[in-house]
Amino acid sequence: MLLAAARSDALNRFATRSAAVRRATRAFMPGESMDDGLAAGARIAATGRRLLYTRLGEALTDIREADAVRDHYLGLFDAIKARGLDAEVSVKPTQLGFDQSLEKCREHCLVLARKAEETGSALWLDMEDSTTVDRTIELYRAIRSVHRRAGLAVQAYLYRTPKDVEALIAVTPTLRLVKGAYAEPASVAFPKKADTDRAYEAIAGQMLEAAARGACLPIFGTHDVPLLRRIIAKARALGVQPRQYEIHMLYGIRDGEQQRLRAEGETIATLISYGEAWYRWYMRRLAERPANVGFVVRSMFG
Ligand SMILES: Cc1cc2nc3c(=O)[nH]c(=O)nc-3n(C[C@H](O)[C@H](O)[C@H](O)COP(=O)(O)OP(=O)(O)OC[C@H]3O[C@@H](n4cnc5c(N)ncnc54)[C@H](O)[C@@H]3O)c2cc1C
Repeated sequence: MLLAAARSDALNRFATRSAAVRRATRAFMPGESMDDGLAAGARIAATGRRLLYTRLGEALTDIREADAVRDHYLGLFDAIKARGLDAEVSVKPTQLGFDQSLEKCREHCLVLARKAEETGSALWLDMEDSTTVDRTIELYRAIRSVHRRAGLAVQAYLYRTPKDVEALIAVTPTLRLVKGAYAEPASVAFPKKADTDRAYEAIAGQMLEAAARGACLPIFGTHDVPLLRRIIAKARALGVQPRQYEIHMLYGIRDGEQQRLRAEGETIATLISYGEAWYRWYMRRLAERPANVGFVVRSMFG
C-alpha cells in the first residue's frame, strides 16, 4: 500500500503541505537545502565516516528541468571540494531526463562524471525500477569510460542481477549492492524478502571474489547488520581488507551501528538525501519499515 501511495499525486500534495509530515521526514533527511545536507555531513564526517549526497527528485516531466538538476549537482561537487569533505554524489537517471531523452541524460551524466573526476569525488548512478535497468547499465558503461571511480547500484531482488554483475566485472566496476526498493512483479523480482536476503548474500560473495582478484570495488548498501557480519567474515576468509570494500547506510538509520562498524575499522559512508521533492523517496523509506508510520502519526498528533 505504501509503495502504491508513493505514486499518488494527491497524497504527494497533501504530505508536502503538511507541517507534521515535513517534521517527521527529519528523521531521514537533515533538511531541504544543500546547506542543510552539507552541515549534517560535516557532523558525520567528524565521526570518521565518508559521505554520499543525493538531491531528492525523480521522474521529471519536462526535459528542460534536467538542466537545472545538472547545474545543482555541479554546484554540489564544488561545495564538497570547497569544504574539504570526503564525499561522493549519487543521482537518479530519471532526475536527468532519462525518460524524455536518453541522449540528453547521457550528456548530463558525462558532464557530471568529468566534474567528479576534476574535483576528486565520484559520481554514482542509483538503480530505479526494473524497466530502467538495461539503459542504466548502458549509461554506467558510458560514464565509466571517462570516470574510473564511477559507481552503479544493483538490486539483489532482481533475478537478473547475478548475470549483470558477472558482465560488469569485465570493466572493474564500483558496485553498490542494495536489496531493492521498488514494487516489482514476481516475473522479475523475488516476492519474498527471505529470498532477496539469500540472493544478497550470494551476490555479495560473487562481488568479494572479484574484489579478491582486484576486479571490483564492492559496496554493501544495507542496514541488515547480521547479514553484514556474515559478509565481513566472508571478506576476511578471502583476504579482502576493509579498504577493498565499503558499507553504505542511509542518514538517520542505524546510526549507532554505523559508528560501531567504523570503530571496528570498517569503511563506512552515510548517504544524505536532501531536497524539496522528498515524497516518493520518503514513502519508500516507510514501506521498508512500516513501524516508521507510527512515527509519522505521532508527529501529526503532537
Ligand atoms: C546507501 C544506500 C543506497 C541505496 N540505493 C538504492 C538504489 O539505488 N536503488 C534501490 O532500489 N534501493 C536503494 N537503496 C534502498 C535499498 O534497496 C533498501 O530498500 C533499503 O536499504 C532497506 O533494506 P535493508 O538492506 O536495509 O534491509 P532490511 O532487511 O529491509 O532492513 C534491515 C534492518 O534495517 C533497519 N531498517 C531498514 N530500513 C529502515 C527504515 N527505512 N527505517 C528504519 N529502519 C530501517 C531495520 O532495523 C531493519 O530490520 C539504498 C540503500 C542504501 C543504504
